[in-house]
Amino acid sequence: MAKVQTRSISRSIQNGRLGSANGLRKRPGPGGQVGLKIIQKGKKKFFEKVNPATLDILGVYPLCEAAEVDHALDAARHGFERWSKLSLRERSKHLKRFRKQLVKDMNEIVDTICQECGKTEMDAMIEVMVVCEHMKYVEQKGPHFLRDEKRSTGIFVIKGAYVSFHPKGVVGVISPWNYPLVLSMGPITQALMAGNSVVLKPSEVTPKTSMKIAEIAYRAGIPQDVLQVITGDGSTGALLVESPKTDMICFTGSTATGRKIGEVCGRLLKPVILELGGKAPMLVFDDANLKRAVSGALWGGLSNSGQTCITIDRVFVHESIFDKFIELATVELAHIRQGLRHEMPSIGSMTFPRQIEIVGDQVTDAIQRGARIISGGKKNTSYAGHFYEPTIVTNHTPDFRIMREETFGPVINVLPFRTEEEAVKLANDTVYGLNAYVWTRDKKRAKRVARQIRSGNLNINDVYVNYFMSDLPFGGVKSSGIGRVYAIEGLRAFADQQSVCYDRLGLNKDPYWFPYTPAKQGLIYRATKLLFG
Ligand code: NAD
Repeated sequence: MAKVQTRSISRSIQNGRLGSANGLRKRPGPGGQVGLKIIQKGKKKFFEKVNPATLDILGVYPLCEAAEVDHALDAARHGFERWSKLSLRERSKHLKRFRKQLVKDMNEIVDTICQECGKTEMDAMIEVMVVCEHMKYVEQKGPHFLRDEKRSTGIFVIKGAYVSFHPKGVVGVISPWNYPLVLSMGPITQALMAGNSVVLKPSEVTPKTSMKIAEIAYRAGIPQDVLQVITGDGSTGALLVESPKTDMICFTGSTATGRKIGEVCGRLLKPVILELGGKAPMLVFDDANLKRAVSGALWGGLSNSGQTCITIDRVFVHESIFDKFIELATVELAHIRQGLRHEMPSIGSMTFPRQIEIVGDQVTDAIQRGARIISGGKKNTSYAGHFYEPTIVTNHTPDFRIMREETFGPVINVLPFRTEEEAVKLANDTVYGLNAYVWTRDKKRAKRVARQIRSGNLNINDVYVNYFMSDLPFGGVKSSGIGRVYAIEGLRAFADQQSVCYDRLGLNKDPYWFPYTPAKQGLIYRATKLLFG
């Protein structure tokens, strides 16, 4: 496919003009950057990106405004015209090359994620691996899921029917900062497989990873106008949502922003997927494998510094094993290190500086209202960057702020319960419904409890694995979102569906066409009685 000239950022990536600080410089002052630092250069605005663990300045990125967004969307339309005409097999081959390039350039992307997010190398690697698994699934299953699908014609035996799938056009992908690779690449891969072109607006907190995604995509031969990145803040994202030039929005981020985007898309009747916040409950029954449950709770609640939408936030433990659970968790947590990447820690820094204040406020509120901090409970000041100590809170009640609001930090709340009924009630006592976790050796109880929990996804005796399985659709209920990504449901969400019927016999007239006669009417009466009575 021929490349078109676009003035969008994708060209600048290739020219190496963006995101490169000339050597790493330290950002002065304790605490570093909290809000966006905007730099005006002539008529254009840029924003600065800082490594949250070390406070090194990583680069400056354009704050794209209306003209740039519009330009990218025009280019994306151009790209769409050719990309959508490729066969499913050809698109699949492109995606395979993209995946292989990603693996080839794995070290680059891992370095970028670690620098930009303050993550541990292991957490960054897990992101890469999960993306590859999803990409492989889409490239292998996509052609099958998106080809014409024969459907039953019911009583109309002389007819044929099928559903066909068509690209929507230009998809705006808006992603958050907590997993800048997987939460951009998931929607991108599915949108491209379905024949759309994509304009990605990453979080202003993590522009660098998205630039790297585009760089790797172009190296793999994905045409520049088929996948573009526009950097900027919420105002840039809003332009993408409002523009008549986007045919669909796939948004991952907070419930507050999702609600705004949902309102706009509702007004414009623009298809939208909303992947929003969570406050996952974990129920640990008295017959659970306690050691595994404790380790699972710590990894599920504290990895990636708890900045995961499906993070384990509220742990409810049967009263008979509550003290033992706390004891084991305290011992295991004492051996979990937090630190900088080269120290091989299990927990890194926070990614979004403002998040450390949100976590701190919730913990302080809990302490003031009488909660007990088993471990952590404050910033880790051994480092210049934004570290919050892994924290276990107990001795509070479900009405505390920390139990109701999304924390998005390395904090686990642990409370006791008495009965199964109470456990289910506690789990459901939230506006969110993304992930949930049930721990018991009793399979019947596990299924019974799972059915009563209102969540989009649920793990039994396990943590996070639903997200690693590409054949499972992912998404939320209640305030955790609308729509699904991944699996057949997610992939098809990026396509328009067309129901097609056709006549197989070629009679001059079907029996129920004009003219209506008593004989035809009688036939319909008799047939209805015979077939459905
Ligand atoms: P956010 O809502 O602040 O921002 C997400 C993205 O939306 C960013 O790119 C931002 O620039 C953009 N944006 C902000 N205002 C906008 C507007 N009015 N119109 C269009 N775009 C706008 O979220 P965040 O802080 O980046 O991410 C953390 C949140 O994301 C948490 O609530 C977390 O639970 C959620 N999340 C959900 C999932 C999921 O799959 N359900 C996954 C990861 C994170």
